[in-house]
Amino acid sequence: MGSVMTSLPLVFDAPRRGRPPTHLADLDADGRRSAVTDLGLPAFRADQLARQYFGRFVGDPAAMTDLPAAAREQLAGALLPPLLTEVRSVATDEGTTRKTLWRLHDGALVESVLMRYPARAGSKERITVCISSQAGCGMACPFCATGQGGLTRNLSTAEIVDQVRAAAQVAASAELGGAPGRLSNVVFMGMGEPLANYGRVVAALRRLVDPAPNGFGLSRRSITVSTVGLVPAIGRLADENLDVTLAVSLHAPDDELRDTLVPVNTRWKVAEVLEAADAYAARTGRRYSIEYAMIRGVNDHPWRADLLGDLLAPRLAHVNLIPLNPTPGSPWDASPKAVEREFVRRLEAHDVPVTVRDTRGREIDGACGQLAATP
Ligand code: SF4
Repeated sequence: MGSVMTSLPLVFDAPRRGRPPTHLADLDADGRRSAVTDLGLPAFRADQLARQYFGRFVGDPAAMTDLPAAAREQLAGALLPPLLTEVRSVATDEGTTRKTLWRLHDGALVESVLMRYPARAGSKERITVCISSQAGCGMACPFCATGQGGLTRNLSTAEIVDQVRAAAQVAASAELGGAPGRLSNVVFMGMGEPLANYGRVVAALRRLVDPAPNGFGLSRRSITVSTVGLVPAIGRLADENLDVTLAVSLHAPDDELRDTLVPVNTRWKVAEVLEAADAYAARTGRRYSIEYAMIRGVNDHPWRADLLGDLLAPRLAHVNLIPLNPTPGSPWDASPKAVEREFVRRLEAHDVPVTVRDTRGREIDGACGQLAATP
């Protein structure tokens, strides 16, 4: 395993590649209005477009029938370039999970996964989309297929937002499990380290939470941004007043193992990451989540569960254990169920809330943070 563990460098700065064309979702309300008046059209057309896009999830200008045909063409050319082209969509779990592979304007590939969870006693139906923030990832986690491919480039704000729009449109149709529904949750746990693409991710978050016509009006707490622990960026995010939920991909409680499993730990240690997450939670008043991929024989030892329990017991955190989604040909494998159960038991003995992520979409490589865009 040693050779796999230290093979890739950390990459924080994305390679500069041809930028995707500007899109409505890249712009705030003022930017949209000036883009429209630059075309010689009245500013109110910008609001009409935004109402279609954010309010009704329409991305195709041809379907915006409240706009006069001539203006529609002009606006489409300037503000609604196609950003995501569907390469493939795979549905599983009786149609309630759907993974989509998208091709971007320059041929880069990203994925998003849409999941519908039925209402249970005490909880409403949830429809969650897991989206990508970068094409590839520069964080080099050795157990992750995306990390092994390296970083291709940052996604633009609109490329991030449009994954959400497309998901909301599918949710509103009857295509996801047979009945129309409403997209309720967004998790930034697809490809990429969201906080390494900070400015564009924050702008995308604003579009997600702002009420229509400026955004989708999603609830802040139902949006989760995950990070491997870019400590200064966690601090900046706290100051944005966005109050979205934070998830920290910890995967190991001790620096020695985490240095190899999550190489960014060589910059910011476990204690620093948890302190930054504590400060974030102090602002929002809500728990953050600790993501922990259970990897057979690597990080699933009982003593590590106890160490994690000791670390987290005094904190406003809960643990989300993720059964590793093994990639073919990889030496990394999921922990046996009995080992997982013992890990849970020990965390609970420390009074740390813990859940085990369901293995939704497993057959389509849909475990977040482990997406591999295979064309
Ligand atoms: S686990 Fe997440 S942060 Fe690590 S390489 Fe994969 S996508 Fe990047």
